[in-house]
Amino acid sequence: MNIESKLGLDVFALDKEPHIVVNQTACRERCKRRVCLTICPARLYTLAEDGSLLLNWEGCLECGTCKLACAEGALDWRYPRGGFGVQYRFG
Ligand code: SF4
Repeated sequence: MNIESKLGLDVFALDKEPHIVVNQTACRERCKRRVCLTICPARLYTLAEDGSLLLNWEGCLECGTCKLACAEGALDWRYPRGGFGVQYRFG
């Protein structure tokens, strides 16, 4: 079973508000490396045509990797509220 198949087994209880918010100003003006684009195991970060950072927070695995990797502090990251977020189905 590959990683995509395993991730496809997870279930997500979505809150109304995102638990990760990108500070677009800090991201655009201070970050040169954009490590979030490659470091997220679920590949949730992409770039828009205008260069802004897009995040599909609904599929977040809550690993915290992007928060630790963002040296510019451009992510307001917190765990989802109780009862929301990922529910792992594969170990
Ligand atoms: Fe991706 Fe993990 Fe950050 Fe969620 S916490 S967006 S899964 S790197």
